[in-house]
Amino acid sequence: MTNPQHDDAGSPGGHRHGVGGGLVSGLATTARALVRHTHTQEYPDVRPDLPPRSRGVIALLAENCTSCMLCARECPDWCIYIESHKEEVPAPEPGGRPRQKNVLDRFAIDFSLCMYCGICIEACPFDALFWSPEFEYAEFDIRDLLHESDRLEGWMASVPPPSLPDPGAVEAKEVGVARTAADKAIAAYEATLAKEREEDRPEGER
Ligand code: SF4
Ligand code: SF4
Repeated sequence: MTNPQHDDAGSPGGHRHGVGGGLVSGLATTARALVRHTHTQEYPDVRPDLPPRSRGVIALLAENCTSCMLCARECPDWCIYIESHKEEVPAPEPGGRPRQKNVLDRFAIDFSLCMYCGICIEACPFDALFWSPEFEYAEFDIRDLLHESDRLEGWMASVPPPSLPDPGAVEAKEVGVARTAADKAIAAYEATLAKEREEDRPEGER
């Protein structure tokens, strides 16, 4: 029995268009491809125009890091290494108790294991980790993808500034809290200045 979808020779499509028709159709496809705009990027001769918030590499702002270990604990790949020690800080007021403070000794991320999920950045409560769009840090030796803190801190230079909130957006709760605290501090400072000025005035002018 003859298959209606095949010609006598068994080839799909049969000889409906003939050899000439197939040739014309092929040439038309080639011509269309020749004039179509190409999307190939000539990297590395031309750097790609990446969005500023691209997940290229993780940057560390060490001065904000309290060695709380939250990022290392939340990392699904266990590729963040933190070492720290405690130091005693003298009490701010006489008679107070001295305090313990974490001092960061080592912070490293192994980018051969990292899957760029961003959980560490989300988990950090002290704004010590940021995405940088920098991506040109491929290495010949996989061990060199372990970035220590000096390298992670160096990426901070390429971290874009935070984007402005949408016009009309609801103000973040933290901003309101910070503003209230700042207003109180300013009021207390001005009251102290006024009191000192009052005390400095000669007796007769008070
Ligand atoms: S981006 Fe994800 S995998 Fe990479 S260090 Fe952070 S938490 Fe770990
Ligand atoms: S979560 Fe933030 S503050 Fe805590 S150890 Fe990680 S980077 Fe440092």
